[in-house]
Amino acid sequence: MTPEAIVANASVDAGVDGDVERGATNPATLDVATVREKTSLASRIITSVALIAPVVGVLSAARLLWGVALHPLDLYLFAIFYFITGLGITVGYHRLFTHKAFRASQPVRAIFAILGAMTLQGPVTQWVTDHRKHHARSDAEGDPHSPNLAGPGYFHHVYGFFHAHVGWLISTKGMERGMLYGRDLFDDPMIRFIDRAYFAWVALSIGLPYLIAYAITGSNARGIEALVWAGLVRIFCFQHATFSVNSVCHTWGKSPYVTGDKSTNNVIVAMLTFWEGWHNNPHAFPRSARHGLRTAQLDISYLVITLLTKIQLASEVRLPTDQQLARIARTDSD
Ligand SMILES: [Zn+2]
Ligand SMILES: [Zn+2]
Repeated sequence: MTPEAIVANASVDAGVDGDVERGATNPATLDVATVREKTSLASRIITSVALIAPVVGVLSAARLLWGVALHPLDLYLFAIFYFITGLGITVGYHRLFTHKAFRASQPVRAIFAILGAMTLQGPVTQWVTDHRKHHARSDAEGDPHSPNLAGPGYFHHVYGFFHAHVGWLISTKGMERGMLYGRDLFDDPMIRFIDRAYFAWVALSIGLPYLIAYAITGSNARGIEALVWAGLVRIFCFQHATFSVNSVCHTWGKSPYVTGDKSTNNVIVAMLTFWEGWHNNPHAFPRSARHGLRTAQLDISYLVITLLTKIQLASEVRLPTDQQLARIARTDSD
C-alpha cells in the first residue's frame, strides 16, 4: 500500500475526511506504519514526570489538609479549571481537531488547543495523531492503547488494562509524530506555534490558580493551596478520567452499535468526562459532534458546541442521520 493510500484510509477510518459513519470497517486491512521504531527516551521521561507530578500533588494536598488547608475557594477553582480545561480535550482535541466534527475560526481553535494543553495530556498534534491511529486500528495491531491485545487469561487482562490506562504513555505514545495521521495540523503554523509553546500552557495551568487565589486573598499560603487543589489535583483527576475512556470504555459497558472493535458506552466515565464516555458511539460515528446519540444520553460537550454555534463561534456541525444510526445499530441493545 502506498503512503498516500495509507493516509487516505487512516483519515477515513478516523472520520477525518469521510462521512460521519465508520461502521464496521475492518482495521486489519490497514498497514501498521510508524515513523519511529519506538517512543523516544525524552518523551518517556517527560511523560513519566507528568504522571508522577500529580501524585506528588495529591500527597502535598493531604499534608496541607492536615492543617485544614482546604477552603471553598479551592473547590470553586478546582471545578472551574476542571470544566474549562476539560472542554479543551472533549470539544477541542477530540471533536474539533481529531474528527473535524465542526468548524471554528482560528482564534477559537487556538483557545481550544491551549485549553487542551492545560490538561497536561500532551501537545494537540501528538494527542490527535495518537487518537486518529486508535480509531484506524481500534483493538487491532497498531492501536496505541487497546486493553484487549495482551492475550488470554486474568494476568494478561490486568496487564492490558494497565497498558490502556497509563502504560501506553511510556511505550507507544507519540510514535506517529503526525506525519501519517496529522498532516493537516502539522501544516497549520498556528497549531505548531501552540505546540512549541506547550510548557508555557503547562505553567499557566498550574500557576493561574495560584495567581487567582493570591489576588483574591492576598495570601501566599492560600495561593499555594489553590495551586495544589485546582492545579495539580485537578490535573490528576481529569487525566485519569480521560485515561478511563481508553481503558474502561474498551472493557466495560454496552455497545449499541456494530463497530468491529470492543468500544463501549460507560455512564460513569461519561459523567467524569463531559459525556465522552459514550465511547462506542463515536467509534461508530467518529465525525459526529454529538456522542450522546440517544435521547436519554446527556452530552455536555455537545451542548457547548451547540452554544458555540448559537453565538456563531462554530459552524458546519456534523451529525449522523437516522438512517445511518439505524444501519449499524444492534437489534439486541437498548
Ligand atoms: Zn476507543
Ligand atoms: Zn475519537
